[in-house]
Amino acid sequence: MTKTWDGKKYYSLNYFLREKFGEKVFKISLDAGFTCPNRDGTVSKGGCIFCSPRGSGDFCGSETDLVEQFHQGKEMMNKKWKKGKYIVYFQAYTNTYADIATLREKYYSVLDMEDVVGIAIATRPDCLPEEVLDLLSEINKKIYLWVELGLQTIHEDTAIYINRGYTLNTYINAVKALKARNIEVVTHAILGLPGEDKAKMLETIEFIANTGTQGIKLHLLHIMKDTKLSKLYESGAMKVLEKEEYTDLIVDCIEVLPENMVIHRITGDGPRATLVAPLWSIKKWEVINAIEDRFIMRNTWQGKFYKEKSVIMELFPKL
Ligand code: SF4
Repeated sequence: MTKTWDGKKYYSLNYFLREKFGEKVFKISLDAGFTCPNRDGTVSKGGCIFCSPRGSGDFCGSETDLVEQFHQGKEMMNKKWKKGKYIVYFQAYTNTYADIATLREKYYSVLDMEDVVGIAIATRPDCLPEEVLDLLSEINKKIYLWVELGLQTIHEDTAIYINRGYTLNTYINAVKALKARNIEVVTHAILGLPGEDKAKMLETIEFIANTGTQGIKLHLLHIMKDTKLSKLYESGAMKVLEKEEYTDLIVDCIEVLPENMVIHRITGDGPRATLVAPLWSIKKWEVINAIEDRFIMRNTWQGKFYKEKSVIMELFPKL
């Protein structure tokens, strides 16, 4: 029988947050002024080849003060929606990459703000030492928290090519450590990475499906200005996905995810001014509508083809 979540064929973040908090919840992206070990020379100097000069934080505020950034984000939301709650999203660069006192000060500075019901922290799996895990565990006891890990692919050859700078095993250990502390994890995957065909992409998604992580973010690979990827693209060495191909692929991915995994994102979100390709993705709502139409055309839904894979599941403790 067709399964739906408030009319949608997948378990969206919007649906999950409404169920959990009883009203509309918005995410406000912040740039807390961190850097990244994959850019400052600790792991590498170049960064991931797709990473924009703002460390994937292109929609974050630019004020240095986090409280001010939050209020600016809230004001923008309030133009459209008068009422709601907020998740503060530490998005730009690597948000666990600083000394523990700095991390503590930044996280606590937003914790008690009015209408904030949760914190989301995006980071790399190789930036979660014991003391940071302990701090996250402390925050997790005070407010709803999830940690986002940028896995992108399970394939080591692609990971080397995109200069991710850590192995799959590092990701597995990070998920285990977070789950052992009851911290929810959201995994990022990118569709359309150079050298990956549909079979390879689906292997990544099937792996994530069996990690027991709370959520997944599915990104369309965006070519942004001033990235290594843009040079490759402009040289003709790689192609980007077409809209039809992408919408079909997203449905293939969501079909193999379990029904209880929250889908945080189903497309990319590149700012118009710095996006090189694919330009069709600028019309985000058209892409989302095309994906929803594709679900209906194919008479399918999240979890339709999910299969438990014990070899992968055994790697991860249950929450
Ligand atoms: S880990 Fe994140 S911030 Fe660092 S280079 Fe890669 S995408 Fe950019």
